[in-house]
Formats: sequence, C-alpha cells, structure tokens
Amino acid sequence: MSNKRDPATRTSHVGRKHRQSRLVNVPPFRGSTVLLDDTAHMRSPRGNPREDYRYGLKSPTHSALMDLLCDLSGAEECQLHPSGLAALWNPLVACMKPGGLIVASDSIYEPARRAIEDVVAKFSGHAIFHAQSSPPTLDELPMEPSIVYCESPGSLTFEIQDLAGWVKLAQESNAISMIDNTWATPLGLDALGLGFDIDIQALTKYPSGHSDVLMGATLASGDVAQRLNRHHHVSGMFASPDDVFLVSRGLRTMPHRLAIQDKHGLMVASWLETHEKVAEVYHPGLSSHPQHELYKKYFASGSGLFSFVLAGADFDDACRFTDRLEFFGIGYSWGGFESLCLPVDPGAIARREHQDYPEAILRLHIGLESVDDLMDDLARSLDAHQPDNQTKRS
Ligand SMILES: *Cc1c(COP(=O)(O)O)cnc(C)c1O
Repeated sequence: MSNKRDPATRTSHVGRKHRQSRLVNVPPFRGSTVLLDDTAHMRSPRGNPREDYRYGLKSPTHSALMDLLCDLSGAEECQLHPSGLAALWNPLVACMKPGGLIVASDSIYEPARRAIEDVVAKFSGHAIFHAQSSPPTLDELPMEPSIVYCESPGSLTFEIQDLAGWVKLAQESNAISMIDNTWATPLGLDALGLGFDIDIQALTKYPSGHSDVLMGATLASGDVAQRLNRHHHVSGMFASPDDVFLVSRGLRTMPHRLAIQDKHGLMVASWLETHEKVAEVYHPGLSSHPQHELYKKYFASGSGLFSFVLAGADFDDACRFTDRLEFFGIGYSWGGFESLCLPVDPGAIARREHQDYPEAILRLHIGLESVDDLMDDLARSLDAHQPDNQTKRS
C-alpha cells in the first residue's frame, strides 16, 4: 500500500494478504518442519522469504508483521527478535569491527549501554558516550567510529539529539548509524528517512500495547539489511508465532492509542509544570524543554512517557508519592494501555553528567484511562507531599 496513506489506514490493512484464509487476521501458524512440494521444490533457489517458507523460523504470521513494520518504517527488510534488548544487541554485534569504536549518546537505555560496553570489550574496541545533543566531530574522536548509536529522546531524562548531525558523523566516517526508536515509534520519527541505517524498535512497548508480550525489531534496507539478515540467521534469535500474532494484533490500533497517549501525556506534563510541588518536567513536547526546537524539527508526534522531579524530594519522598497513587502501577516496561509511575535514582545511572541530575526522578507512563482521573490521582498525591525545601528550581 502507498505510504502516502494515513498510518491508521496502513495499520488496518497492510500484512493481511498473508492470511491464507477468509479470516480477517493472519492466525498464529505454529510449526518447525515445513513440508516441501517435491524434490524439485527442495532443489529450487529460494524465493521471497516472506512467501517461500522452508523452516519454522518464519511463517505467514511473521510475514504479516514484517510487512507492516517495513511499511511503517520505510524499510525493505525487518528482523524480528525475542525482545527489544535482543533487537539492539544483534545489530551491535553484526556491525562492530575488531578494535572498532562505538560513539553513542549518553542518555541511552541503561541495558543498551551495558550491551555496548560488553560488545566493545569482546571486540577489543572502545566506546564513547557523548552527553551533548550534537555529536562529537571526527577531529574530537581518537579514530573513525564503526558504529554511531543514538536514542532520542534519552531514556529517563528525555534529551533530544541533533539527529541529522549524528547521521552526518556516521556518513563522514563510513560508520553504521543506528537509533533506538522505541519512544516515538516510526509514526513519530522517520528514522530511516532521516538517514539512519538501522531503526531499532522494542515492540514490547506501543506496538504490542497490552503489556503481555516481549519482542523487538530491526528495520533497514540495502546492504545493511542483508548483513542484519545474515547475522539474524546465525544468531537463532527468532520470535515465536504466538508472540508475533499478539504484536500484530496490538499494532492494528497503535496509531489511535499513541495519539491519545501523546496528547494526554502532554496535557499532564503541562499541568505538572505549573504545579507548585513540581520542580521540573522532562518532556520534549514542552516549550520549556532545552531541545524543544529539535523535537519539533524531527518528530511528527510523541508518546505518553516522560518524567518529572518532585520539589524538595529525596528518593524516599518519590517512593511515598508513588505508593499513594491509585491508578499508576509500579513497573519497568511501558507502552501498554495502563498508566505507570516509576521512581528512579539518577545517581544509580552510569552517565557522565549524572551529577547534574536531582536526587529522584519520577517517570510517568500515561495510559488510556480518563486523563481527568489520572490528574486527580496525581493531584491528591502531590497535595500530600511535604517538600523539605519549598523553593521551586527555575
Ligand atoms: C524497553 C526498551 C527496550 C528493550 O525492550 P525489551 O523488549 O524490554 O527488551 C529497548 N529500548 C528502549 C528505549 C526501551 O524502553
């Protein structure tokens, strides 16, 4: 389908050609052995892997999801992985060179940072984590990087990078550029259109949308996609048809869920910003955000995840605030239909600049509940908070 069509129309229609029955959805096709027509079929060169199935690693269930993800991301190829973490580990290993350098933005998802540190150790290379929004210049680096890795906005603290600059650094040095695009999804950020080589997505979050499945995807085109395909095959990290079915089902409604969660998230963030017991709100959609202009430049829309700082609060206060909430669960994943609140101690995050962070950050995920109920809930807990220090930071 033409990618000029609205994403809501594409998520409703793309991929359904694989259903092989009159049912609306492609069911979970389970299998290991695939019976071939005859030995001529066996000896024939393999056709389109999204149609010519020869082993249970792929099925029409997988093809349906891969078609839709490729369509939304503007990619030729898609690799499905058993988790978002596997989806970022695989391209790192596939693209790293012995003795090579990985340059990454500093505020990336903590497990991604550990994955990068692990990969560089195994490849006798090194990593540089860069805290500024613009990337380092080639002159500032000890050597040309093999991989340029970004996540925008940053996990927990929501910094936006100058994405075109990061792509340019990769292009100048023949590095492979990759971006973790889990927060905005391809609906909010056209990562491949901006020039990134690999778009990494934790499907566990908004695409699945119902907090009941883990999965990840890498999206790419051309030579990079072929490299990822080869590596994906030898890694054996495939996704089960039942899980793929669940993600496909969730993805059908993602544009509408995401639009509401983006809108309500921004409503809650704007309101919190005016509250006397809130010191700071980290949401790139707010005009007060230091990289709001970059956000408007690169992102068509956002999502329902952001964080804030309770005025005069230490980590214990942040925990008490969380425990008082009625509608916000406490949990590490996000992107589902339900609201979440997570107290985070930034001192525990391995970042170069973390001395600038406050003692406690509260990460909110705004779900599909009534936004009035959510704000009432937050207001009640804010009212009960007694700051040690009433002064609101500017
Ligand atoms: C959750 C998350 C991942 C990893 O996804 P899992 O499926 O939980 O492994 C990767 N990147 C970001 C930004 C995430 O939030």
